[in-house]
Amino acid sequence: MFKALDTAAYWDEKYLNNEANWDLKSANPVFEDLIKQSEFVAPGKLLIAGCGRGYDAVMAAKYGYDVTAVDFSVSAVEFGKNLANNEAVNVNFLTEDIFLLDEEYFEQYDYVYEYVTYCAINPERREEYIKKISSLLKPSGKLIAFLFPTDIRHDGPPFGIDIKEFYRIASKYFKLEISTKKIKSIKPRAGREVLQIYIKP
Ligand code: SAH
Repeated sequence: MFKALDTAAYWDEKYLNNEANWDLKSANPVFEDLIKQSEFVAPGKLLIAGCGRGYDAVMAAKYGYDVTAVDFSVSAVEFGKNLANNEAVNVNFLTEDIFLLDEEYFEQYDYVYEYVTYCAINPERREEYIKKISSLLKPSGKLIAFLFPTDIRHDGPPFGIDIKEFYRIASKYFKLEISTKKIKSIKPRAGREVLQIYIKP
């Protein structure tokens, strides 16, 4: 039913037709705050799942993280590569389907960051997605899940995120470390975002 979402072509079209209405045109300020404080996330190997145009990847690289950013949209990744060049930082961009990342990437990362990707994937693949993220993390690695939109919408994509459902699936592969709504979201997203950090046993 949601098969179109599984294809790079679907997302490329959105980016190319200027229909990427989720695109902040800058890094997520809450993620930047988290990284700056580095209380819960000290610099390390970071994978950004569904990096879009790469703003968060470039920002994290500036703070000394070793960043790999994956997205299967050719257009989005091209934009990210240019951004990294212009800002003179090194980001390892992968134009790949997250679901197809193979052994080479297993247990390689201290952190996986995800923002507006879980809500965008085919809902039938949610558990497969979380399981995949778990396979990419080192033991004790962390999933930084920045969940938006947490109010239920039916006009997806992006789909709304049911926090209880997310927690139920994520708990099969991770232990919840932090969950908070006390974050400085950008205005239109305020009250509709939840930051959760999960740890891989
Ligand atoms: N995190 C970015 C992009 C969110 S939109 C931001 O906040 O702006 C969701 C992104 O996930 C899109 O760029 C889409 O191309 C990508 N995506 C969706 N399914 C994917 C998959 N299976 N493999 C790789 N990227 C995927």
